[in-house]
Amino acid sequence: MEKTKITNMEVKKKNRNHIYRYICKCETVSNPDISYALKLSLPTVTQNTKELLELGLIRETGELQSTGGRRAKALAAVADYRLAAGLDITQNHISMLLANLKGQILKYERRAYSYRLGQDYFWEVSQKLEAFIAESGAERERILGIGISFPGIVDLKKGEITNSHALDITALPFEDVSGCFGYPCYFLNDANAGAYAEGIHFQEKEPFFYLSLSNTVGGALYQDGHLMQGKDFRCGEVGHMTVVPDGLPCYCKKAGCLDAYCSAKRLSDLTDKKLESFFAGLEKGDKELANAWEEYKKYLSIAINNIHMVLDCDIVLGGYVGSCLGPYIEEIQRMVSERNTFSEDGSFVRSCNHKVGAAALGAALQIIELFIEQV
Ligand SMILES: [Zn+2]
Repeated sequence: MEKTKITNMEVKKKNRNHIYRYICKCETVSNPDISYALKLSLPTVTQNTKELLELGLIRETGELQSTGGRRAKALAAVADYRLAAGLDITQNHISMLLANLKGQILKYERRAYSYRLGQDYFWEVSQKLEAFIAESGAERERILGIGISFPGIVDLKKGEITNSHALDITALPFEDVSGCFGYPCYFLNDANAGAYAEGIHFQEKEPFFYLSLSNTVGGALYQDGHLMQGKDFRCGEVGHMTVVPDGLPCYCKKAGCLDAYCSAKRLSDLTDKKLESFFAGLEKGDKELANAWEEYKKYLSIAINNIHMVLDCDIVLGGYVGSCLGPYIEEIQRMVSERNTFSEDGSFVRSCNHKVGAAALGAALQIIELFIEQV
């Protein structure tokens, strides 16, 4: 019988990693608290926190209140020991973000900047990101790297953006992009990045499908720290499911795709191109906007029901539209429930927790996770 051998070294490393992750999750915590929570002996915990203190990854912040006996030392993660940048690239904007090891956003900026083919674009974005980091006051050597999110197929095996209809990209090697930046780069799809921020940041254990409703529609399947990528990194590309045979033209050159009915543009194009203006007009009772909203919700509920029938998991609505859905979520749940074959109440549908810069944050969090997993 084959048995996986786990060496003492591996156990030690695993313990240290668990302890460090636990401290990162807490404001302040003591060695006895960690010992109790992780079911590790107090000497093991004390030895590990001593090492983490020596490395500068955690610090002592005084003493915790005691209910009797000696007061325990309070320990906390040094959140800015290292930082990560996130960059979300879309057709007309870039979003830049700086996060610390606890995943807290230190600085965020979204600005209009149109994508164009060629390396000049990436050189310019790199300069903007350098200026953004400098403005934050963060020391350059603390930056672990940049997570870059693209609205397209990001093939980690081939090391290229194989396809982005939105940006008119075919086969863009990662190195053509990373060569323009002065930090290590990690690439991921925008919906995957949004799902990652949603999952990691909110400690999701159950699987969920993240439906990204931005100027393009995408999706990602997340479970316990992992993204389902698919054979060719196309898992979750629900924006190109057919919802109306031979329906409205999609930017992918097919017809009747979900994207043609449920992109954020479908709503914002009816006003001054700002989604907030659409929802403000809707609140004021604009008839034309109300009709468009009814149609939008109809196709959205079809898509949600179809995805849920395949995956049987929660559906998180993210992206620009998902972030504005708070007041409308019950209505969408009801519409989904009416389509549901198993009389489910629709509570498996919810609006995303992370409303601003989710893709840029998810991209930064990937870099942070790569660091934390080797502590
Ligand atoms: Zn399409």
